[in-house]
Amino acid sequence: MDYRGRFAPSPTGPLHAGSLVAALASWLDARAHEGRWLVRIEDVDGPRCQPGTDRLILDQLARCGLLPDEAPVWQSQRDALYEKALQQLVDAGLAYGCVCTRADIQRAVEAAGRATERHGELVYPGTCRTGLHGRAARAWRLLTASSGSIEWQDRRLGAQQQDLEAEVGDFVLRRADGLWAYQLAVVIDDAEQGITDIVRGEDLADNTPRQLWLQRQLGLNPPRYLHTPLVLGQNGEKLSKQNGAQALDLDDPLAALRSAGLALGLRVEADSVADWLAAAVQAWRGMMPPLNFAVFDEDRTP
Ligand code: GLU
Repeated sequence: MDYRGRFAPSPTGPLHAGSLVAALASWLDARAHEGRWLVRIEDVDGPRCQPGTDRLILDQLARCGLLPDEAPVWQSQRDALYEKALQQLVDAGLAYGCVCTRADIQRAVEAAGRATERHGELVYPGTCRTGLHGRAARAWRLLTASSGSIEWQDRRLGAQQQDLEAEVGDFVLRRADGLWAYQLAVVIDDAEQGITDIVRGEDLADNTPRQLWLQRQLGLNPPRYLHTPLVLGQNGEKLSKQNGAQALDLDDPLAALRSAGLALGLRVEADSVADWLAAAVQAWRGMMPPLNFAVFDEDRTP
């Protein structure tokens, strides 16, 4: 299987030190495996995106010498793919329409005497599993009833496990505002683009079981996963656009690469961006255990 990796930024703000780490790691891993590296602009959540930020991110990457091997794609232009996948799931009885508002969910959860929360979100109690009784669907959810314990092997974090139904519940594929959920778009695009390896920040690690489950429901091959360490700000919190992380200063791309490298445990010195990247690929090769497709295939067996 030829290696295909990707970096998939949401254009909600320019790259910051944390997102450069994820971009660099995915690029290094693709180069170290003589694979291809793609960039996908994840702009499904239109209202959260800032106009022009997509181009700015591509420019920031280019300044760091991180050039995609194929033309970037924009999720906002791929509605038809997501629509088709949702229809397939609904037709197979694996996804269902939901009429519940936040308040409905709150009430149902309280009535059942359990209030399982995850990242401030209530675990959906499955109210609409039995049908809409004539009402129009607001959102669409994926059934997790038979998911059991989802187990997977992260190349850095090791063995991971999540009981999807209890810990997350039937999750949203299409939101009540009509927007596609990240989970659906990312799974469809990774499959459609033939991505074999996902290298991204550790903050996304706990989305992986949902994505593995969705892949399984759609009959898609799962990629391998490697979640990179997060870069913490001075306040000890994860750097993110939401908590006001500074955009990268790319007047000195070599300095930005050097600090992104350090976050990945790479101590590389060079005088130019091109030399730094070449040396970093060598260092990355030395650091990463070889990929093992066999182990990965075993993980797929339900
Ligand atoms: N678009 C997501 C983000 O910027 C990343 C998605 C992924 O790598 O799976 O956080």
